[in-house]
Amino acid sequence: MEGTILMHTNVAIIGSGPAGLTAALYAARANLEPLVIRGLQPGGLIATTSEVENYPGFVDGIGGFDLADNMEKQAARFGAQFMDALIEKVDFNQRPFVLTTDGGETVTADTLIVSTGASPRKLGVPGEEHLANRGVSYCATCDGFFFRGKDVVVVGGGNSALDEGLFLTRYVNSLTIIHRRDTLRADPVLQERAFTNEKVRFVWDSMVEEILGENTVTEVRIRNLKTNEVTSLKVDGVFPYVGHIPNTSLFTGLLDLDENGYIIADERTRTKIPGVFAAGDVVDHVYRQAITAAGEGCKAAMEAVWFLAEQEHAAKKSQAIIEEPVTTLGSW
Ligand code: NAP
Repeated sequence: MEGTILMHTNVAIIGSGPAGLTAALYAARANLEPLVIRGLQPGGLIATTSEVENYPGFVDGIGGFDLADNMEKQAARFGAQFMDALIEKVDFNQRPFVLTTDGGETVTADTLIVSTGASPRKLGVPGEEHLANRGVSYCATCDGFFFRGKDVVVVGGGNSALDEGLFLTRYVNSLTIIHRRDTLRADPVLQERAFTNEKVRFVWDSMVEEILGENTVTEVRIRNLKTNEVTSLKVDGVFPYVGHIPNTSLFTGLLDLDENGYIIADERTRTKIPGVFAAGDVVDHVYRQAITAAGEGCKAAMEAVWFLAEQEHAAKKSQAIIEEPVTTLGSW
């Protein structure tokens, strides 16, 4: 085994979004003192969401950061432990499993819950990388404040595009939503808010094909997919909200992944490796809600509890067989 062994845990949880934090709560309440390895985005994507209006129990909605923070505190109250690290390597050939952090330290774990979530998909156009954090942002909640009085573009037509776009209208002078079709995917309630917001205008059937600017974003080049016409728009910021890709590169070749890179787990969150469970956006490309992720995190923790109980039972049984006195059979 490489590196210093930092600690051993009954349940390691990689990722700290709603799935990971709910798993931590349930495993902690089962007295398993789970370890949550927070990863790159503490609180997960929900922590970067301005307002969550559809998580049950919050009549007036709750900020995404506060929701994640509350979940973490609740899990910590029952004994969950937290570590700020990235896991760079997992070894499922040994039991306990061995997880290696970016600092070269190792954590050993009897069970593992993978809740590494998903990351925003990039547009993949010229200028995007060069101008990241210089006008190109994937987090309106984090960066909206810097665009006071500015003109910005949101790309996409889903809930994230509209939700985060509407949040931006608190600050910006104008918001242009560029969508590749002429109908939105977002929930009707968000559509209505966007259509009636006087700061918002739509550019339909179009894609951003280049982001321009020397040190900061100054312009986007837009192609109309129906007419093929290319136009330019002077803007100060670009917020791509064109979906997500699952964070599963760590598990390539170790767990079964589908054609889009999502972990394949059964309805009980079990992966192909006994003792390894997966929950949240890392498996779910259909619902992708905080509440569904939390539900799966709960399932994964309960499965881990049952798995460990079975292991313990099996170990006790084999110990009992070894210790049982040898009885000599009488003669026939
Ligand atoms: P999404 O629902 O997958 O929407 C992605 C949008 O980006 C779609 O409009 C899609 O266009 C567009 N798109 C995809 N690839 C593109 C490309 N290469 N170039 C240009 N446009 C592209 O993703 P999301 O909005 O991030 O939402 C993810 C999940 O989180 C969803 O389940 C959503 O309901 C949930 N969510 C919920 C809330 C809420 O309830 N308030 C808020 C945020 C997110 P098409 O429509 O043509 O496919």
